[in-house]
Amino acid sequence: MSKKYYIQTFGCQQNVADSERIASYYQTQGFTRTDNILYADHVVINTCMIREMAENRIYGLVNNLVKKKKKDNIPKKIIVTGCIVGMAVRDKTGKYLSQIRRKMSGVDEFLPIEEIGFDHVPLRNDIIHAWIPISNGCNNFCTFCVVPFSRGREISRSYKEILDECIDLSKKGYRKITLLGMNVNSYGADLVVGSKNVQVLRDFDRTYFNRKKHELKYVKGYRLPDGRTVRPVHVKHLNRLRIPTLFPSLLSDICKVDLIEHVDFMSSNPWDFSNELIEVIKRNPKITRQIHLPVQSGSNEVLKRMNRWYTREQYINLIEKIRTRIPDVKFSTDIIVGFCGETEKEYNQTVELVKQVGFCKAYIAMYSDRPMTVAHKVFKDDVPHKLKKQRWQILEEIINIPNLTLKKNIC
Ligand code: SF4
Repeated sequence: MSKKYYIQTFGCQQNVADSERIASYYQTQGFTRTDNILYADHVVINTCMIREMAENRIYGLVNNLVKKKKKDNIPKKIIVTGCIVGMAVRDKTGKYLSQIRRKMSGVDEFLPIEEIGFDHVPLRNDIIHAWIPISNGCNNFCTFCVVPFSRGREISRSYKEILDECIDLSKKGYRKITLLGMNVNSYGADLVVGSKNVQVLRDFDRTYFNRKKHELKYVKGYRLPDGRTVRPVHVKHLNRLRIPTLFPSLLSDICKVDLIEHVDFMSSNPWDFSNELIEVIKRNPKITRQIHLPVQSGSNEVLKRMNRWYTREQYINLIEKIRTRIPDVKFSTDIIVGFCGETEKEYNQTVELVKQVGFCKAYIAMYSDRPMTVAHKVFKDDVPHKLKKQRWQILEEIINIPNLTLKKNIC
């Protein structure tokens, strides 16, 4: 009888997509899947550490499994992968690895997700809708976010590989594609200039970019499958060079795949939502009209502390610009309440922004202090939990509850 594996996935769709590749790896090793953790020879826990509560739940689950293994010798092997392990392998001090070894003693293997690679064709549960990762990691370093540490710097998959995957999926009967990345609309910036030139905090390597505008034509850039070459551009109003992303071209090319009927993407950063991207969405009715555009806060002071590269005015302008070009568009968002030092006045600016924009849905989170982040090192998690909860509740009542009750306008 073949051995059985079970995968428990925590966190976002990116983790779900990673688990699909892990499943594929196990199938190629002759394992079969079981839906019952109690019957599995190998149990893989794909972890998330976006919030402390999620992380603690994982420690609880793993330790219960370890007890069961000691008692019944099932499962034979416990493997922990995902963000917690990603964080441990990137922490050069080794402290975090020692910590997770201590908190989850009895685990047989800590597996960095990178070791699974993209060579395994994901084993998808859905037969119509495919989630396709287009990049991994993030270079934005929002001060509250653990992703640049747990997943590392943004690495884009090859343009052609993604396009080929879409074509292949369409032949297999898939009709809906969701492109996944921590920041999909910066997809390809590293392909254009080389990953070593895409710097922390989105600053550019001076040796690469300290060129005269006319010298840009000698920059190699990135050659798209149709022969066009994309190079860094000079953005006049910012008075600096900016790495163009390949996302608008990628979306546009995926829309040309015959049998694909609907193309969605998540998540996008307002900073990288270019005019070119808006025009591509407008031109292609296959592309979603429900755009997820995380705002995080409506206060410029909080946005600055969060290292989000836009102001509330720029965010609102962007929403209006998109609405003007694509009148039937709806927006969902992410909001963090109770971020370090968030005053009543700053919070109320978020409430005002929410009312002004009229989101159809929001993922509202109470700020959770995460290791290694700038906020953890520099700021104080000083908004009491009770107040965070109240602020969370008020926004829920403004955005999510009415949309659920009225059953309209839902994303
Ligand atoms: S854009 Fe900011 S919030 Fe999103 S993954 Fe990157 S660092 Fe985290």
